[in-house]
Amino acid sequence: MSDLTVNWLSEIPAAYVRCRSLGHAWIEGGDMRFRLARGHVGRALTCERCQMVRVDLYDSNSMELIKRRYSRPLDYDKPKGLERPMGVEITAEFFARAATAKAADLPEVLKQLSLAQAA
Ligand SMILES: [Zn+2]
Repeated sequence: MSDLTVNWLSEIPAAYVRCRSLGHAWIEGGDMRFRLARGHVGRALTCERCQMVRVDLYDSNSMELIKRRYSRPLDYDKPKGLERPMGVEITAEFFARAATAKAADLPEVLKQLSLAQAA
């Protein structure tokens, strides 16, 4: 990864790092479903972390996905010319920013499996 990409990744909002590492946290709204002409139905979802909006359009008979479009926050995409960071690099940035867990914060399943120790 180039120095420019390293710098960009280290400066983007924490929510963007989390969404790039975990995937978006799509939430529904009460008004998310809408009907369209010509046998299509759609839904709009918003990511609760980064506020990206996803719109899915379906055939209302077969329920097959026809189109999916995203509306990204203006500064979400990497600047043109920068190489795309690999998944492992995003994961490294995620952990670089993550808080250290206390023993009491560890999920019970990890305690049961003896897979984790608090720092
Ligand atoms: Zn997101």
